[in-house]
Amino acid sequence: QTLFIPKEIDANEPRVGGSAETVKKLIGLGFTVIVETGAGTASRIPDREFEAAGATIGKAANVKDADVVLKVRRPSSAELTSYKRGAIIIAMLDPYGNDAAVKELADAGVTAFTMEFMPRITRAQVMDVLSSQANLAGYQAVVDAAAEYDRALPMMMTAAGTVPAAKVFIMGVGVAGLQAIATARRLGAVVTATDVRPAVKEQVASLGAKFLAVEDEEFKAAETAGGYAKEMSKEYQAKQAALVNDHIAKQDIVITTALIPGRPAPRLVTREMVARMRPGSVLIDLAVERGGNVEGAVAGKVVEVDGVKIVGHLNVPGRIAATASQLYAKNLVAFFETLVDKDSKSVKINFDDELVKATVLTHGGKVVHPNFASTAS
Ligand code: NAD
Repeated sequence: QTLFIPKEIDANEPRVGGSAETVKKLIGLGFTVIVETGAGTASRIPDREFEAAGATIGKAANVKDADVVLKVRRPSSAELTSYKRGAIIIAMLDPYGNDAAVKELADAGVTAFTMEFMPRITRAQVMDVLSSQANLAGYQAVVDAAAEYDRALPMMMTAAGTVPAAKVFIMGVGVAGLQAIATARRLGAVVTATDVRPAVKEQVASLGAKFLAVEDEEFKAAETAGGYAKEMSKEYQAKQAALVNDHIAKQDIVITTALIPGRPAPRLVTREMVARMRPGSVLIDLAVERGGNVEGAVAGKVVEVDGVKIVGHLNVPGRIAATASQLYAKNLVAFFETLVDKDSKSVKINFDDELVKATVLTHGGKVVHPNFASTAS
């Protein structure tokens, strides 16, 4: 069977769904691999590297022969017209709020798997794209903050005087927040962090940062069984704002990563809080694509308000594309391997497998995922 790795058509998407390592693995599984020319260029993987790994370099049109397509983003309507009916697509399909696009996948007759829905269980850790990409986003957020900050981060005692360590505050300590803490600590910053989930407190301390939160009864119950945060009450949010208000005024860099599954990102930093920060301070809003944690953050832009920079970069993992692709491609292949029958060296999907059930959106011309039952044709 033939597997195709296209070049992403979105100009803001430098990542690619394959690497030399994963191509070798896919060939080992018994597949013919075609990589679209230039697919890896923005991730620093030249065609010749894919070729050396055993792939054939092809064109976008080769997708018409593909039984499997490994991608980063959801294919556009135009792209889908070239896909073979019955082809398997594995990508980050971003289905929530995109019902029409999900229906389009069904109508195209493809079996589409969305990697964001991978259950966070031990068996699927190696396939967890949210973690692999959020981890890099957390790292990159600190690197971006350091670049925007016109002062040094570590304390430096020099003959010409002492430079104080920068104060960094991380709001939202999931996968991205934990990596941001670790990275800021490595750069010598004094780090504090907040979250609404009590489990985070110990993790923050173990990374050498100080935890700050409103620890009331609601806080004690804020974690769902799935490990995610609940949306907090208005009362809690007011208490949280009062607590962080004075703290933020003393911070040099604030990195926000707070998300609630299926809801807009919580607003954690108001305009008034921004106004109290020193000129030259930097805010990085990693939640900007989901509505933003910081008032005044603009998606895709760095804006300056009274000398305070608010950074709203899109696709932050894409800012570290070579590493992001390396890990993402590995996530994809780890999942794809579970769909392959080792004896016949071809795809045999077990629709009773919990990984398949969790991630398959469309199959046989229908929307099959329970979360999109109303979209089902
Ligand atoms: P996320 O991206 O959904 O959210 C980021 C953080 O924002 C979370 O820590 C959340 O608690 C926090 N947050 C939400 N509302 C907030 C508010 N009002 N104020 C402050 N912070 C707020 O989270 P994530 O990175 O996907 O991690 C979610 C959970 O999944 C964690 O418990 C993590 O340890 C767990 N996880 C498990 C696995 C696994 O078992 N394989 C893998 C990755 C993550």
